[in-house]
Amino acid sequence: MSKTIVTGNVVQTERVIEQGIVVTEGQYILFAGKKEEYIPTGDETQLDFSGHWIIPGMIDLHVHGSAGHDVMDGTPDALREISKSLCQYGVTGFLATTMTAPWEHIVRALHAITVATEERNDYAQILGVHLEGPWINPKHKGAQKEEDIQQPGREQLESLLSVAQDRLRMVTLAPEMPGVLEAIRELVRHGVICSIGHSDATWEEVRQAVGAGATHFTHLFNAMRGLHHREPGVVGSALQLRQCSCDIIADFVHVHPAAVELVYHSKGREKLLLISDGMRAVGMGDGTFELGGQTVHVHGCIARLAGGTLAGSTLTLDRAVKNMVEGVGVAVQDAVYMASTAPAEKLGIADRKGSLEAGKDADLAVLSSDFRTLLTMVKGKIAYREDEVHG
Ligand SMILES: [Zn+2]
Repeated sequence: MSKTIVTGNVVQTERVIEQGIVVTEGQYILFAGKKEEYIPTGDETQLDFSGHWIIPGMIDLHVHGSAGHDVMDGTPDALREISKSLCQYGVTGFLATTMTAPWEHIVRALHAITVATEERNDYAQILGVHLEGPWINPKHKGAQKEEDIQQPGREQLESLLSVAQDRLRMVTLAPEMPGVLEAIRELVRHGVICSIGHSDATWEEVRQAVGAGATHFTHLFNAMRGLHHREPGVVGSALQLRQCSCDIIADFVHVHPAAVELVYHSKGREKLLLISDGMRAVGMGDGTFELGGQTVHVHGCIARLAGGTLAGSTLTLDRAVKNMVEGVGVAVQDAVYMASTAPAEKLGIADRKGSLEAGKDADLAVLSSDFRTLLTMVKGKIAYREDEVHG
């Protein structure tokens, strides 16, 4: 089986090995560590990225689209293009994220995800579905379309579980809305991560949701009841509940760097995950786009509805890591942990993905010293290489 030696600063969970190597064999990592501890067989392909970071491939739990395509386009082709595009940003796995929409549109998207998941894919792997809405609170709809917000019913839940099956990994919902607590219990029984978001839940309502099995909070601070010292709300609960994790859009537009730092101090790298919430405008420059049936204007990387509401983002995970390191002062291995390891742990796949260790899937990325993605490998194959694109 073909072997590749990638040389660079190897970012592991507890340390960075300067001028180390990662050796891949077929689709797995054969070795990760100090050069002198590996005995070459002589038939390896060499990729020299000395001075740059070799990191475990990043995993985005919340991404709607990229490069002009959206999961809600409801076609396998859109998913293929998204998979391919995300490799440019060091992402090797993601949850295809749907939006609040008429139920039949959501079902169409789920079918497309099924088709795309089952076919051969050498790019970022579709690790499952994240259903964002439609069971949310109109008060915190953000860029989700209000008229499509729904209440979960038994029939809808059954149809969802039968169409998505075990691909359904995460649902963002508002537990204070009618029927949602029951839905949480049912989803958790099927192994689905229930994440509180687009929600006006009080501290007490969050406690009930957590009692029912919710364990996560979606894009902390955005589209949720904030923290008040007499009513800690969703934000206060997320910070207080040590067992729960949350994710954040660390673009410094959705959240101030100081607020990101505050959450980091409170949750630590294990319970704070980096997401992009990227939409089809990612990588497309300024312009007018569509998101969940609404028109979005992108200007200077910021995506807004006509009324000014932030509408998804054009953030990429390599930039989120850069922001955590350069803007918040987090160590590189901790920032990478939040983009790669913690999401793998949340999905229950950390035995295979999310860290550079022998035996794990050869999903990795090389980031330049200023955190631009130079190379992405998915299961041992090069899925993106910067110099090939820019000549
Ligand atoms: Zn979203």
